[in-house]
Amino acid sequence: MNDSTPTQREILAKEYDAIHNRLFIIQIILVVALLAIYQFSGTSALLANGLAARFGEGLWYVTNAAYTAVTVFGFAACMFLLSYYSGHVLERHYELSNETFGEWFGDFVKSLLIDLVLATVLFSVIYALLRWMPNWWWVFATIFYILFAVVLSTLMPILIMPLFHKFEPLEEGDLTAAVHTMMNDAGIKVVGVYKWGLEAKTNTANAAFTGVGRTKRIILGDTLLSGYSKEEILAILAHEVGHYKNRDTIRLMLTSSFLSLIGFFVSHLVLTQLSGALGFAHIFDIGAAPLFIFSLFVFSLVSMPFANMHSRRREFAADAYAVKRIGSSEALISAFEKLANQNLSNKEPSAWVEFLLHSHPSIARRIERIRKQ
Ligand SMILES: [Zn+2]
Repeated sequence: MNDSTPTQREILAKEYDAIHNRLFIIQIILVVALLAIYQFSGTSALLANGLAARFGEGLWYVTNAAYTAVTVFGFAACMFLLSYYSGHVLERHYELSNETFGEWFGDFVKSLLIDLVLATVLFSVIYALLRWMPNWWWVFATIFYILFAVVLSTLMPILIMPLFHKFEPLEEGDLTAAVHTMMNDAGIKVVGVYKWGLEAKTNTANAAFTGVGRTKRIILGDTLLSGYSKEEILAILAHEVGHYKNRDTIRLMLTSSFLSLIGFFVSHLVLTQLSGALGFAHIFDIGAAPLFIFSLFVFSLVSMPFANMHSRRREFAADAYAVKRIGSSEALISAFEKLANQNLSNKEPSAWVEFLLHSHPSIARRIERIRKQ
C-alpha cells in the first residue's frame, strides 16, 4: 500500500494540466493584445465606417452583422495556431485524440461557422438594443441572453451535437432497463437514452444529460459503455439525476443571469465613459465593439471564481445525492478513478488553480467527501 507515490499516468495528468494552465494565461494575453490593437490602431473604426459607407445609415443592422462576422473570423484566424496546438497537437501527443489533422480541421471549421452564426445573432441584437435603449439596454440584453441560452440548450442535442458525433439509440438490454427504472423512480421524463459516438475521435469517456423539455435525453459515450461496469455507469447517471433533483440547471442559470446583468451594466458604464474619448459619437457605434468585448472579457475573468465556487458546491451536492440514491459509494468512487485515469485529469490540482479556474472539484476532494458521507 503506497498511496503517496503517483502512477505514471498521474504524473502525465499533472504535466498535461500544467500545460493547459499556461495556455490559459497565453490566451488571455493574446485576446487582450488583439483587442487593444484592433481598437487603438483604428482598424475597428475603419471597418465599421467602410461597412457603413457601403450599406448606408438605413441598413445599420447589416453593417453591425457584417462587422461581427468579419471580426469573429479575424480573431479565429489570429488565434489559429493556439487552437491547433491545444486542440490537436497536444491531444494527439497525450493520446487523448485519434483524429487526423484533416478530421480535426473539419471540426474546427464547423465550430467556427457555428460561432459566426451565434455571435452575429447575439451581437446584432445587443447592438440594436444599445441603439434603441441607450440607458436600459443592459437589462434587455440580459433577458435576451437568457432566452438565447435556453433556445441553444434546446437545439444543442438535435442540431449541433450531431454535427460532431454520431448518436444512436442505446440497444435494449440490462443497462437500458436499469437506466429507465432509475429515471422513473426519480420522476424524470427523458426522450431517450443514446449511445454517443466518441470512440472515433477520442479516447476520453463522458456521459451527460442534454437538451431541455422535449429534447431532454441521456447520452452515454461508447468509450464509457465499453470500459465501465453497469454499476459504475449507473453511479455516474445518479450524479446527473442529483443535478436534476437539486434543480441545479435553474440555480446555475440564475447565477449566470445575475452575473450577466452585472457584466452588461459594467460594460454600459465603460462604454458611456470611454467611447466618446475614443472618438465615437454614440455608445451604439459598432466601431467601439473591442472596448465592449474587453469589458465583458475582464468581467467574466473576475467573476469566474465566484461562478466556479457555486458550480463546485452543486457538484458536491450531486455526488451526495448519487451515493444516497445508490446506497453505497463504491461504484461512484471507482467510476471517478477510472474517468480521471482515462481522461488524464489531474486528481489533485493546486488549491488556487482549483479555486480560480475549475468548475468541478478535483477527483481527490470528491472522493474524500464521498468517503466521509
Ligand atoms: Zn456534475
